[in-house]
Amino acid sequence: MAEQPTDRIESAAPTAASSFQELGLTETMLSALKAVAYESPTPVQGGIIPRALAGADVLGQARTGTGKTAAFSIPILEKLDQPARGHQPRALVLVPTRELAVQVRDEMERLAYGRKLRVTAVYGGKPLRTQIARLQKGADVVIGTPGRILDHLGRNTLQLQELEIVVLDEADRMLDIGFRPDIEKILRRCPQSRQTLLLSATVAPPVERLAKRYMRDPEVMDFSPKGKTVDTIEQRYFTVDDPRKFDLLVQLLKREQPQQAIIFCRTKRGTDKVHRKLSQKIEGIDCIHGDMAQNVRDRVMKNFRAGQTRILVATDVVGRGIDVSSISHIINYDMPQSSDDYVHRVGRTGRMGREGIAFTFVTPEQGIELTRIEMLINKLLARDEIPGFIAVEKVAPPQAPPSGPAYPAGSAPAETTAAKPAAPPPPPPPGKRMPRRHRRAL
Ligand code: AMP
Repeated sequence: MAEQPTDRIESAAPTAASSFQELGLTETMLSALKAVAYESPTPVQGGIIPRALAGADVLGQARTGTGKTAAFSIPILEKLDQPARGHQPRALVLVPTRELAVQVRDEMERLAYGRKLRVTAVYGGKPLRTQIARLQKGADVVIGTPGRILDHLGRNTLQLQELEIVVLDEADRMLDIGFRPDIEKILRRCPQSRQTLLLSATVAPPVERLAKRYMRDPEVMDFSPKGKTVDTIEQRYFTVDDPRKFDLLVQLLKREQPQQAIIFCRTKRGTDKVHRKLSQKIEGIDCIHGDMAQNVRDRVMKNFRAGQTRILVATDVVGRGIDVSSISHIINYDMPQSSDDYVHRVGRTGRMGREGIAFTFVTPEQGIELTRIEMLINKLLARDEIPGFIAVEKVAPPQAPPSGPAYPAGSAPAETTAAKPAAPPPPPPPGKRMPRRHRRAL
């Protein structure tokens, strides 16, 4: 498709609809929505569904937990309505991870209630043979990760000539993890007449470029909340020495009694270790990371969604995009690698307006990383403590502050800037703890 001019994409104010009837949906769709107990459209659905039904290309800035899957699934199902005679898919949904592929397929199948449409997910880690057999039987909607979709295209086990709609879900995430060349190869093989819907939590320049190149005059709708993290999520941190993290975790779980929780670790080995040690103390624990076989990962996620697993120890690879509405607690056992990852991790709780709480374990050396997160979300995290639990052995002598500001002028949250000591603080009097702002920066 010809590249469009490169001026900035303008965003339109999404229109609100208070009922699904108002959106002009068929009786079949309304019955399906009743069956899944969705009473009224979320803002993302109210905005995207009518425009997508009208045939427009839509770029929706929306993150998971806002009902975005149904926002693109409903128009797809309404447009395809019933299976065609051909065997080739008429809708393709590209997603960044295997877990999301399964999640989108499940949601679409639930919403396809009353239709005979065939929805299938194809992703790496599962035998190609079974997927080929399913594709050969005929699939109306294919949901897949870019790598595996390309695999099938290369083997001619999937053709895209019949496509009417293409969805790029979590486009920013797909670009982040290096799927751009794969996505472009796939899009170049799709019919030019297709409709394209793109969903992304952020619309940074790489997403805009993709949209300009492969979408026709997209309507941009911004559903992002004003703050980076949802207001219903309380966020706190603990200062803790690395060797004491595990004991702190046990104490915290005892105190909090979470309905469901995800504990994020930085590495696969670390995830295994925390899982192993925690299983000796608490029941209902499982773990998930990228080294586990796909069928095991699928089973772990199924049990977690069903509420059989109460606590999931995970790496970021699989943590992002997980949508389980009863997650009440997020515990960042290890600090996330980037501040963006923090926002994604924490966003696993507080789904659909529910309340959630996120705790982050910060070692005394990681004060600066905490500050970076606070700058990104423009909010200070509250400090937490477990009475009687000594989380930090001793206060190290304070380091001299950096000579210049750690961030560009005007970009730091006001309180953070004010809290930075201008000079190294004096050591605390014997028996007294250091004031919070100094201890944190150590
Ligand atoms: P998503 O943003 O697509 O990950 O959706 C988040 C959660 O909201 C999923 O568990 C959906 O089943 C649920 N959901 C989506 N739309 C609605 C709705 N209109 N009413 C109630 N729940 C919904």
